[in-house]
Amino acid sequence: MKSGALRARDAAREAAKELAESGVLEPDASAEILLSELLDVRRGELSFQDVSGEDLRVYSSYISRRKDREPVQRILGYAYFRNVKLDLGEHALIPRPDTESVVEVALERVDERGCPCRVLDVGTGSGAIALSIAQERRTCEVHASDVSEDALRVAKRNAEENGVSVEFHVADIVGGLENLAGSVDLLVSNPPYIKSGDLRSLEPEVRDHDPLLALDGGPDGLDFYRRIFAEAPPILKHGADIVLEIGDGQSEDVMELGSSAGFVPLGVRDDLAGTPRSVLMRWEG
Ligand code: GLN
Repeated sequence: MKSGALRARDAAREAAKELAESGVLEPDASAEILLSELLDVRRGELSFQDVSGEDLRVYSSYISRRKDREPVQRILGYAYFRNVKLDLGEHALIPRPDTESVVEVALERVDERGCPCRVLDVGTGSGAIALSIAQERRTCEVHASDVSEDALRVAKRNAEENGVSVEFHVADIVGGLENLAGSVDLLVSNPPYIKSGDLRSLEPEVRDHDPLLALDGGPDGLDFYRRIFAEAPPILKHGADIVLEIGDGQSEDVMELGSSAGFVPLGVRDDLAGTPRSVLMRWEG
């Protein structure tokens, strides 16, 4: 990239060209988001902004990292999800727009159930689902668990930064959450669901920059659904709802696993792209 003062829009255009030549998908979005975040302006304001000196040097380093297929959110160190801004620390999974639709389904369940409502987000990562529910439904009592203490540290800080109250627990699925016995109204989770054998062929942005722990769903991608259905019942209230994010093509298998573990299937919901993304079940046990 050239140095000296440039219209920000031109700098982004030039950067997008470089990204496209390196095979980065959606190069304009990457180039514009990185520059607008760096300059702390909206994307639409790049046309009215100059960029020079130190900013241009930093931008150049961002673009070369992006060329090496590091995701935008990893370069910035944070991500936006619904109405929260999430620090990602070193390792937390980058929250996906798909998961915003899972929160939507969870919020509908919360509204239908009314208050008081105790929610548990299993495998919270950076806290995306738990923080969103806590922020958008202030009367809910939101709990979040993760097996990774690193992730929980990040999630806890995110809760503070976003001014929401969530109770965090170190737990492998629900192991160690005996204090919640029989009390959870809604369990929500985006568990790891990629088949182990498919991990190598993921895009480099995911394969090399998201934590394996948050992606690897075992040989058929379904290990964590089996575990949730087997292990969650003791903490669930009679009639509790369960909302699970699923990977492409997993809806039938997950519904079937849930049914054979005694859960009542309530339906499957699409994400914004029209792909089945949430499985909804009820615990009547
Ligand atoms: N949705 C993520 C992906 O596409 C996977 C996250 C997960 O396994 N829950 O890579």
